[in-house]
Amino acid sequence: LIRVEAIGKWYGELHVLKGLSLDVAEGEVVVIIGASGSGKSTLLRCMNFLEIAQQGKIYLDGEHIKPINKVLNRVRQDMGMVFQHFNLFPHMSVLQNVIEGPVHVKGMPKKEARELGLHLLEKVGLEDKPETYPAMLSGGQKQRVAIARALAMQPKVMLFDEPTSALDPELVGEVLGVMEELGKEGMTMVVVTHEMWFAKEAAHRVVFMDEGTILEEGTPEKIFSNPVEERTQAFLKQIL
Ligand code: ATP
Ligand code: MG
Repeated sequence: LIRVEAIGKWYGELHVLKGLSLDVAEGEVVVIIGASGSGKSTLLRCMNFLEIAQQGKIYLDGEHIKPINKVLNRVRQDMGMVFQHFNLFPHMSVLQNVIEGPVHVKGMPKKEARELGLHLLEKVGLEDKPETYPAMLSGGQKQRVAIARALAMQPKVMLFDEPTSALDPELVGEVLGVMEELGKEGMTMVVVTHEMWFAKEAAHRVVFMDEGTILEEGTPEKIFSNPVEERTQAFLKQIL
């Protein structure tokens, strides 16, 4: 579904992604792990064109994506993104937050958007909160609204960048639980996380990034019990 082909990304002199390639199949859940600064966020941001890589190509559904606005607006709708910090609109209710995109960007009729929104809130376990305002929600609830909001655009793929790293530990499970369900339902997902149990439970493939390249990848079983590379071993030792 997504093909990242030999992308190179520099910030000034800093070479952040070094000819990195990654294929993500439809329905696949890929978890990306790696040390701070290895380029995980940059990779996700290049995948949905929040950043433009200076080298390489990105394909979505077989289409080579050219970084021109007309194309990018469409491509960004196809890729839902959830960040560490859920930027919900504070002056809008939960339901309004979720249906804002479909109504204003896609032109979906309000009634249809409301039905979709309520359905998605049920999916993330917030069916009792449509009229609540973000300030009244816990971090875990806010993040689940952010997931519902991204899903409301009916993306082909969901990208998650450390969606639980700003949450209190007791709230991490509810968010990752929703994501795990999403994966089981067949959503294509690329997830950057330090929660290794999520990788073990939900990932089809784990990718270890190191200094702007993919050093090693494989099934969770292989990466966690039998990593080949010394640097993967060292990283896992430190984090597990
Ligand atoms: P973390 O686990 O801490 O989130 P990461 O693997 O997501 O790390 P990136 O955020 O992709 O790492 O950053 C990779 C490198 O690029 C780092 O050295 C970072 O300082 C640098 N970098 C990231 N964004 C920018 C930017 N907008 N301008 C300049 N340098 C940047
Ligand atoms: Mg990051």
